[in-house]
Amino acid sequence: MTTITIVGDGPAALSAALFLAKAGNDVTLFGADETPMHYAQLYNYLGIPDISGSEFQRTARQQATDLGATVVDAEVTAIEAADGTFTTTPASGEPRASDYLILAGGKASQALAGSLGIEIHDGRVAVDAEYRTSVDRAYALGRLVRPDRSQAIISAGAGAVAALDILSREAGKDVHDWDTPPEPADDASR
Ligand SMILES: Cc1cc2nc3c(=O)[nH]c(=O)nc-3n(C[C@H](O)[C@H](O)[C@H](O)COP(=O)(O)OP(=O)(O)OC[C@H]3O[C@@H](n4cnc5c(N)ncnc54)[C@H](O)[C@@H]3O)c2cc1C
Repeated sequence: MTTITIVGDGPAALSAALFLAKAGNDVTLFGADETPMHYAQLYNYLGIPDISGSEFQRTARQQATDLGATVVDAEVTAIEAADGTFTTTPASGEPRASDYLILAGGKASQALAGSLGIEIHDGRVAVDAEYRTSVDRAYALGRLVRPDRSQAIISAGAGAVAALDILSREAGKDVHDWDTPPEPADDASR
């Protein structure tokens, strides 16, 4: 089973956690729940006409948790990378070792990226189209990479892109996460 640690608990982090946990991976997300979503009222999230940012966050956290992600309410204070393993240390609780790291803590997590030697250009963590950073198996998402053009739906989309990239790398082939509606139940009265 692939282990993934996610730093942050906004839309980017929770979206990545959802996809990766749904696929059966060992996913732990550390969050401080200080997302600006708590100040937002969303009228521009496609498919959801009107929802408060806090309600969105509650639903998203529950959805990721229900699909198997572990959400830890703690700030990450340090991350080390050695011998192909990321070791993430929270302010309280045990350090966690993982195969992959996803940084999605907004601007606040830029220092953590810098401490790992991840390239930062013009005040932004540099990523490719799959949100891979310059450090192998480390990803950066959301406001951390788009501090001045930030929308919840863009962050959530970035989480999905990074998750599919990890799933595809592990599978050795391109991977979708596509579901279809359940078959109609048999009508027992017939
Ligand atoms: C007043 C206001 C209104 C807004 N209205 C809208 C709107 O109407 N529609 C819209 O689309 N967007 C809106 N936004 C923007 C939206 O909130 C952001 O686009 C979105 O929150 C970005 O999500 P993210 O996942 O990239 O990062 P964030 O939401 O910034 O999440 C990062 C999370 O990681 C946590 N974190 C940071 N560092 C660490 C660490 N070291 N350890 C653990 N956790 C950490 C933070 O506490 C935070 O909870 C609004 C923003 C503001 C301020």
